[in-house]
Amino acid sequence: MDNKFPGKDISIQDLKSKFPLTAKKNKNHKSIFKIAGVEFGGKKIPIFAGPNMVESKNLILDVAKNIKKNNCHFLRGGAFKPLTFPYRSKNYNETREKGIEWLAEAKEKYKIPIITEVMEEKYISLVSEVADILQIGSRNMQNYPFLTACAKTNKPIMLKRHYGSSLRDWLGAAEYILKEGNKKLILCERGVVVPHTHRETSRFLLDLQVVPAAKEITHLPIIVDPSHATFWRPWVKSMALSGIAAGADGIMIEVHPNPKKALVDPLQPIDYRELKNLMILMNKVAKSAWGRKVY
Ligand code: PEP
Ligand code: MN
Repeated sequence: MDNKFPGKDISIQDLKSKFPLTAKKNKNHKSIFKIAGVEFGGKKIPIFAGPNMVESKNLILDVAKNIKKNNCHFLRGGAFKPLTFPYRSKNYNETREKGIEWLAEAKEKYKIPIITEVMEEKYISLVSEVADILQIGSRNMQNYPFLTACAKTNKPIMLKRHYGSSLRDWLGAAEYILKEGNKKLILCERGVVVPHTHRETSRFLLDLQVVPAAKEITHLPIIVDPSHATFWRPWVKSMALSGIAAGADGIMIEVHPNPKKALVDPLQPIDYRELKNLMILMNKVAKSAWGRKVY
């Protein structure tokens, strides 16, 4: 009956029959929870920062030290990475198990929690040893058996939106995770494919409108990733600030000590000095727009 008119947008019926756990119980219902002592969905707007790829031990230790100094809450970085093409040079290569070890060292040395991507079921237990949040990347958003397997660990999860998916599809994927009894789920908007992205190098457009739209429907915290969305460093500041203004519950930013030398996606990371300025501005926007704070 309720599949008669499967739309791309969400119907009242969907809230009851398609994703009852993901939908709000009432208009004010919000999930507020802590991960590694950091509150999500409440007054605080946590910041995840770090390189695209965990390139080396030196890099990840240096980034951990600097983002911690700048009041960021989680260190991000992929050891297992979805790379769009299968060919690898010596430098442009995942660091995999080694990368996970380096993240563990950074976590221990600088006392900063970790968010990192897991791509395959067979690595869930390895990645879970170091990750405080398991990142499910956009490309895996609709890999339903994988979502279920990640959810069963009961680890906090961040589910990135696929760049071609509707909010309805995204919340359907979220429901697979909540259905396993996993309650610590964060959504992450990271840009969608549209006809115009305003630069040759930019593949995606940050869908800021999905933030208030999601908040009408779901109680889950939603964060914004301006780095993957824009693919272009000069736009990261304005989109990070706009993400906060839009009501995001967190921001994930790519940070690299020498952005031009980043081994993966060198056009998108900001450097430490830019991060420092951005943290101050994000805090101001959070305060003036919502009475919230970044740090
Ligand atoms: C990432 O955050 O490292 C990443 C690969 O992002 P996405 O899945 O959004 O492309
Ligand atoms: Mn990337």
